[in-house]
Amino acid sequence: MAKKKKNGVLVFLLILLIFLVVGMFAFMMRTADHSAFEPIPIEPPTEPVTEPASVFDKNDPNLVLVNKESVVDESYEPEELVYIDESMRAADRAPQYQRMQPEAAAAFEALVNGAAEDGLTIKVTTAYRPYSYQADLYNYYLAVKGEEWTKQYSAPPGTSEHQTGLAADVSCPSINYELDVSFGETAEGAWLEQHAHEYGYILRYQEGMEAVTGYSYEPWHIRYVGTEAAEVITEKGITLEEFLGDI
Ligand SMILES: [Zn+2]
Repeated sequence: MAKKKKNGVLVFLLILLIFLVVGMFAFMMRTADHSAFEPIPIEPPTEPVTEPASVFDKNDPNLVLVNKESVVDESYEPEELVYIDESMRAADRAPQYQRMQPEAAAAFEALVNGAAEDGLTIKVTTAYRPYSYQADLYNYYLAVKGEEWTKQYSAPPGTSEHQTGLAADVSCPSINYELDVSFGETAEGAWLEQHAHEYGYILRYQEGMEAVTGYSYEPWHIRYVGTEAAEVITEKGITLEEFLGDI
């Protein structure tokens, strides 16, 4: 009987021990859990992550956008216009339309000299054209070529880049200084495609970009935007519209 009693005490102590261990374990877990709700030290706020500022400014006058949606009014006129060097002007066009803004004119002359170094001849046919010229031209084309042709190839007054003094139509002797898509096939046209950006110019109306620019392919129409912008636009193969949308 005494042995049985002793065994009962042992079992009781064992159960008590188990309770104690389980209880301690539960207490420790509780303590551990508690620590999870301790306030997390607040870290000092880090610098807000910002995109590096674009080096381009939409208000840069060299990046002005003129197209069929972004129209300039009749009174818009560049502050200053200078004649492009006479040797670089197609002879049978009116000289007053062979002017550009000074920076664009200087860049154009550098471009022509660059082409000459490669044995090629590029001349301007017309560059700056005032609102009135574009209005007359548009009406002339309407009468002579009809509405369909005119809408595709000629800019209604106020929608032509030529009014900015930053655009030039160029050609070469092998096609008689005509403005024709065949210019793109000439050595001069190919040279422009490769080198225009080095002088701050872009080929404004690229093939296949009609839906964006609103104009058919015009390999002869170049536009001054400055060398940095020209390099990005050319490298990415985008239009001025797309470039301005990105900056
Ligand atoms: Zn043009």
